[in-house]
Amino acid sequence: MHGLMMDQPLLISMIMKYAEQAFPESEVVSVTHDHPEHRYTYRDAFRRARKLANALDRLGMQQGDRIATLAWNDFRHFELYYGVSCSGAVLHTINPRLFTDQLAYIINHAEDRWVFTDPLFIPLLEGLQTELPSVEGFVILTDQAQMPDTSLKNAISYEALISDETDEYEWPVLDEQTASSLCYTSGTTGHPKGVLYSHRSTVIHAITAVMPSVVGLSDRDVVMPVVPMFHVNAWGLPYTAPLAGARLVLPGPKMGDGASLHQLISQEQVSLALGVPTVWLALLNFLKESGKGLESLSRVIVGGAACPQSIMDRLREYGVDTHHAWGMTEMSPIGTLNNLKASLSDIAQDTKDALRLSQGRAIFGVAMKIVNDTGERLPHDGVAVGDLYVRGPGVCSAYYQRESEVSNTHDKEGWFATGDVAAIDDEGYLHITDRSKDVIKSGGEWISSIELENLAMSHPAVAEAAVIAVPHEKWNERPLLVVVKQAGETLDKTSLLSWYEGKVAQWWIPDDVIFVHELPHTATGKVKKLALREQFVTTR
Ligand code: ADP
Repeated sequence: MHGLMMDQPLLISMIMKYAEQAFPESEVVSVTHDHPEHRYTYRDAFRRARKLANALDRLGMQQGDRIATLAWNDFRHFELYYGVSCSGAVLHTINPRLFTDQLAYIINHAEDRWVFTDPLFIPLLEGLQTELPSVEGFVILTDQAQMPDTSLKNAISYEALISDETDEYEWPVLDEQTASSLCYTSGTTGHPKGVLYSHRSTVIHAITAVMPSVVGLSDRDVVMPVVPMFHVNAWGLPYTAPLAGARLVLPGPKMGDGASLHQLISQEQVSLALGVPTVWLALLNFLKESGKGLESLSRVIVGGAACPQSIMDRLREYGVDTHHAWGMTEMSPIGTLNNLKASLSDIAQDTKDALRLSQGRAIFGVAMKIVNDTGERLPHDGVAVGDLYVRGPGVCSAYYQRESEVSNTHDKEGWFATGDVAAIDDEGYLHITDRSKDVIKSGGEWISSIELENLAMSHPAVAEAAVIAVPHEKWNERPLLVVVKQAGETLDKTSLLSWYEGKVAQWWIPDDVIFVHELPHTATGKVKKLALREQFVTTR
């Protein structure tokens, strides 16, 4: 028997309409190349999203058409999030730092019809446009006065595109399974793969993320996603913030710059910020050099890569609570978030500290299991380590136009193979030990590169560390530690390796240390372990 409740689809336009009615005056503040400090309200943003939707209709965009963006976090990108998806087209956010052949591959694979780009990426696209047959034109995210000269086909400034449009638009009532946005995972081998989100998955993820046990947002918060809007929808914040009425601070292109981040945090009184560990390293280094503090900031959510304890400890010195999160492009993206369960509030402080390092507990709608090599489920006892699988309404069921390949990525019951290796404890906390491709298998046993990296980074003279597997005749693989020293510190191999004594099993201790000036990072701030392996494994 069906319930007798209204059958209304879950659409992103619902978030927009709700925010417009409930929090019209909440602000979106952003930094762009043409506005060092742009501010307006959700009311203004959604009014312009309607103008944009009219412009897209005029360009002949149809439901399901893909529209690409190459853009940093700012107000125009925010308008595209709503104007494109809510009109029924698909917002294809592209990581502009991909190799040019990967860029061409994904634009062609997605068959994008128009590309909206920051002026910064014009030279890149000019060099590429002849290889992009599906692209009909380019919209430059700036105003007419600052429109650069360009050979890009049918180039027009964003402001010129929308200026004469009316701000009235009837958002279509779509099927909630309609595709809303598309994001390709970088993929270290083979071509990038497209994750195609739906209105339904995006709305469910946004509602869940608002919960106090997840991101926990309200209209009293000022939230700054320091995760790019070209990567997994900036962890969903462009949807979650308006839903909660929180003030949204979009830092533009200066996301890796500690001084700029600090300036925005203090100017806008940011209370919650989100980003990968390297972002916080940059901010902490700036604070150390400048002697400045973080008065307004009370919470930081760190994910995308394991957060070392040293970052949590250093942030705590500035009065900031760190919460660890884990997720993937394929999961909309939040899978787990670390908040202490009320029933654990009386456990010893050092047990709490150890638990903070775990990736946290599954959020509503995410089921997790760990399995062994033959696919049998392993117990959630905090000891058994296996391949992590997930399932839920926010998890991808297949990659875009690779629907026939699901048997490579999903098991027979439809669970998605995350490619991560983990344990889950009896309280439900997830402990990621590695990515399966980064695992170090020594003498038939796994060594966790994440745990070795965390320990190295807890050494006061270490700024950043990565552990990779190097082939070994007897043990098959052994860990190699690659380290960036803190500026001005001296440190040698022997003393660093002795730091591990008594902290991990003797056979886990890396065989060697290589000191480097910096580690290679991906566009999303993760250490490029593949590049390190190429550099150090082949040359040894
Ligand atoms: P890619 O790195 O391929 O661009 P994602 O951004 O989707 O794609 O990365 C997802 C992966 O990042 C996860 O599968 C996991 O390996 C890693 N990851 C994300 N958050 C964490 C975390 N908190 N701790 C450890 N690893 C993490």
